[in-house]
Amino acid sequence: MRTKQFKSESKKLMDMMINSIYTHKEIFLRELISNASDALDKLYFKSLTDNSVGISADEFVIRIELDKEARTLKVIDNGCGMTEEELDKNLGTIAKSGSFNFKNDNEKAENVDIIGQFGVGFYSAFMVSDEVTVESKAFGSDSAFCWKSKGADGYTIEPCDKDTVGTVVTLKIRESTDDENYDEFLDQYRISALVRKYSDYIRHPIKMQFTTKKPVEGKEGEFEDVTEDRTLNSMIPLWKKDKKDIKPEDYNSFYREKFYDFNDPIKVIHTKTEGQATFNALLFIPEKPPFDYYTKEFEKGLQLYSRGVLIMDKCADLLPDYFSFVKGIVDSEDLSLNISREVLQHDAQLKLIAKTVERKIKSELEKMLKNERETYEKFFNSFGVQLKFGAYDGYGANKENLKDLLLFVSSRENKFVSLKEYTERMPESQNAIYYACGETREKIDVLPQTETVKAKGYELLYLTDNVDEFALKMLGEYDGKKFINVCDNDFDLADEDEKKELKEQNESSKDMLTAMKDELKEKVNEVRFTGKLGSHPVCLTSEGGISLEMEKVLNSMPGAKENAVKATLVLEINGTHPVTERLKTLYKNDKDTFNKYTRLLYDEACLISGKGLDNALEHSNLVCELMTK
Ligand code: ADP
Repeated sequence: MRTKQFKSESKKLMDMMINSIYTHKEIFLRELISNASDALDKLYFKSLTDNSVGISADEFVIRIELDKEARTLKVIDNGCGMTEEELDKNLGTIAKSGSFNFKNDNEKAENVDIIGQFGVGFYSAFMVSDEVTVESKAFGSDSAFCWKSKGADGYTIEPCDKDTVGTVVTLKIRESTDDENYDEFLDQYRISALVRKYSDYIRHPIKMQFTTKKPVEGKEGEFEDVTEDRTLNSMIPLWKKDKKDIKPEDYNSFYREKFYDFNDPIKVIHTKTEGQATFNALLFIPEKPPFDYYTKEFEKGLQLYSRGVLIMDKCADLLPDYFSFVKGIVDSEDLSLNISREVLQHDAQLKLIAKTVERKIKSELEKMLKNERETYEKFFNSFGVQLKFGAYDGYGANKENLKDLLLFVSSRENKFVSLKEYTERMPESQNAIYYACGETREKIDVLPQTETVKAKGYELLYLTDNVDEFALKMLGEYDGKKFINVCDNDFDLADEDEKKELKEQNESSKDMLTAMKDELKEKVNEVRFTGKLGSHPVCLTSEGGISLEMEKVLNSMPGAKENAVKATLVLEINGTHPVTERLKTLYKNDKDTFNKYTRLLYDEACLISGKGLDNALEHSNLVCELMTK
């Protein structure tokens, strides 16, 4: 028989398990039970639609068998089992490869961390055993197979005899040493305590033969061994327990294990709702987005239980898209067990539950924003984009719901600010909410248009995410205050006198400005003087609804090439800048150079706005030509 090698990542994990100095080796039992429970769930699901499964809901069971003589511990389930290929695939490689980051596998401390925080599945069995055997017969298969491994050297798979569908995992428990006591894993009391500690909420019964000494009836002082079948777990799921009986660590480890996260959640929401909809919900807000969160592959949803029985793993209808980061469980008394997905979607009860869940999440987030600012900001850094997208999505259908949960970084202290905070601390003279877009705060700060806003003592919101401006455009206003992009052409902080003066200036140079516009052709819609530039000579602004930033975002979307959008641009020139005098002189005396200066100014404005040059080569030639003149 050929011995197969573990895949390299698995081999590392295996080495780590075998040589582990981890002090909580006992977690291996939790891992094996959790695998067995998953296997039972899978077959149970099948049984809902497939009569040939032939097991009723209450016959699914996990069994533990101890044999002190043979030093074996068995975890037995009548779940879905594994085929030969599945044994090879599932136990020869780490299922969730990529979850582990072996930066330095000699560093024990780091290893301990991985084991403790996350559990490492099946392989943890090697922390306590010399040899692990997995005999399995898959549902629908005629033959059974036996997987066997003594550790890092590899494993074998061969046919074996097994009548019933399911899996038997047999651990050959190591001999105790001076430092380590392995005998405890053969002790019925210890094992039953471990089951209660780690696997109490598992919804299938975990049974074990228990031998106790009982007084012999009628014979005082005499005892006899009585063996009985005991169910070790209470089967009460965590979310059904009383909140006061649950420690924060219980929630955290439940979350990490069930939702495969290395980190504790930043918020746990545990509620019981009665009334129109009766349900328990245990919801978690993760600290960081899962690696696939912002991809198409990510599937939102909550686990849906009916009276403690899982009926759907990811019920998407329970969460609005903008709260898709929430993980957790809803357990309702009101839903039928055998309800199909199609029917469920239209179920009035489910809709009611979803509404309540949404309201609950929202109010928890509001509370967090109010009372735990730092935590909220951490949350917002992870999932703020999703909320902003939610405000924009569906033509702003949910904007009222979400507007108070949004944060933007502002120029005031370079910190997050909510729209409420912004408007509440606005000076009286200010009557709009100002923002500017760009890749980074630093790049926005050098936009000439931001200078006058800041000089007036007004706060500027930095919009650095693609979705930001779309969200604000959709909101339209907050508390009666409009949002204004300082790069829009109608942004103007000038007073009446200044405006009048500017108008005159524009009129008196009309011919020159028209000549500039003609030179730039369709690149811009207009060229004009402006008073909003402080010490800068030029800037580009946009007219109408589409800003330069929106143009960039929209055109970067898939399929945008055919229907490319274009912002309508205006080249604005600082009438008090020396460059204006120079232009005026050239306009009179040297049209050719005047035209070149015009193009150069436009290029400068493009560069400053972050739009980039239309034609870098032409620009470079132009600069060199003027340099050598
Ligand atoms: P996971 O975190 O995915 O459970 P494990 O290493 O514990 O990772 O197990 C790997 C895979 O092996 C599981 O995902 C499952 O498909 C399969 N498996 C493990 N134990 C059993 C079992 N008792 N019955 C059926 N399949 C199992």
